[in-house]
Amino acid sequence: MSIKAPRGTRDILPLEAQKWYILEEIFKKMCCIYNMHEIRTPLFEETELFVRSVGEESDVVNKEMYNFKDRGGRELALRPEGTAGVVRAYIEHGLYNMPQPVKLFYYGPMFRYDRPQAGRQRQFYQMGIEIFGTREPIADVEVIKFTADFFSSLGFRNLQLHINSVGCPQCRFPYQDDLKEFAREKLSMLCADCQRRALLNPLRLLDCKEEGCRELMKDSPQLESYLCQDCRDHFNGVLELLNVLNVPYYVDPYMVRGLDYYTNTAFEFISEDIGAQGSLGGGGRYDNLVEICGGPSVPGVGLAMGVERIALAMDREQLWPEESEPEGVFMAVQDSGLKEEALSMLYSLREKGLRADTDFLNRSLKAQMKFANRNGFRYVIIFGEEEKLKNQIKLRDMLKGEQLELSFAEALDILVKERS
Ligand code: AMP
Repeated sequence: MSIKAPRGTRDILPLEAQKWYILEEIFKKMCCIYNMHEIRTPLFEETELFVRSVGEESDVVNKEMYNFKDRGGRELALRPEGTAGVVRAYIEHGLYNMPQPVKLFYYGPMFRYDRPQAGRQRQFYQMGIEIFGTREPIADVEVIKFTADFFSSLGFRNLQLHINSVGCPQCRFPYQDDLKEFAREKLSMLCADCQRRALLNPLRLLDCKEEGCRELMKDSPQLESYLCQDCRDHFNGVLELLNVLNVPYYVDPYMVRGLDYYTNTAFEFISEDIGAQGSLGGGGRYDNLVEICGGPSVPGVGLAMGVERIALAMDREQLWPEESEPEGVFMAVQDSGLKEEALSMLYSLREKGLRADTDFLNRSLKAQMKFANRNGFRYVIIFGEEEKLKNQIKLRDMLKGEQLELSFAEALDILVKERS
């Protein structure tokens, strides 16, 4: 039996990779405009980091984490999300000693053992940003506006921004008690996970994926009325700034997001078009996370977006730019005895920075022309005995169907000028 890619993973073949490249370029450009700096952290960390930060009772850690012991007996886990590793690095390298805020971005694969379906995989890519060192609402808005700008650069026009405040631990305590009380009456009807959540981490009752549980929790108390003055002011500050910047939003009182570390602002950008996996990206504030992970008390706010989901939504809404025009030069050789001369021309083309390739399989001229066409080359240089005798080549423009006979040096000149 042949070996296949593991369940929940996907190969990104060249045509799709080209599309991803567009997303990556726009993301990196946006990061540059917003003065964010790249950080790369390991794909695996000590399991304890995620248990402490994402939360032992969150689905991400409790049900979905790829954790294992390495040969040295260390407890490790493939990262299920990016923030925890970035926070660990921020502490480990003393980035809190740098002028604050520190604005970082990352891009890479994450791993969750979830049930695979369209837009939900076991290895998926996230693009994310984090801002450390300020609790000002302007930082929350910076992250949200970044996301809105990124999506609008991709051409999205109808994403909904859902926003909520999940408060601070102080205002959450009485809320969690009341939520627990609310769930107690319905305990026997809730799923086994929610029965456990009701005891250990009632906030997680709000992000159960089971339809039955969602229905039962529909009229549960709303966190909004429990917010302390400080949290209320912060939330209002964020909403006011969003108004000033004309960023439309919908306050969703039940949105708490699946990770335990959020405080105050929580938000998600949702596409109505891609169904159940409609969340293209989300994030929020995490004022206690650096401390929880063993660092000083430094607030933070961040965002993570799912690349596969964005690509899927772009497919559905047909937002990808038109296929690019053919470009570059294919070096077609008519006689295998001329390969060496053709190779030196090929490398001269490349030295000038032109996209260039040649035949590797001793194919007929006709087959080489076909190959050049299928591979999106604008020009073909034809070199055979006849051309060699005249010290010339043929330069064929595949788009216009025109052909010139000239020296290689002249052709090179034309091609370089044409490109610039
Ligand atoms: P989260 O880290 O759960 O807040 O997720 C942030 C974003 O990552 C989501 O909005 C999705 O776009 C994406 N995402 C999360 N889990 C998956 C998954 N299993 N497969 C694909 N994308 C995901």
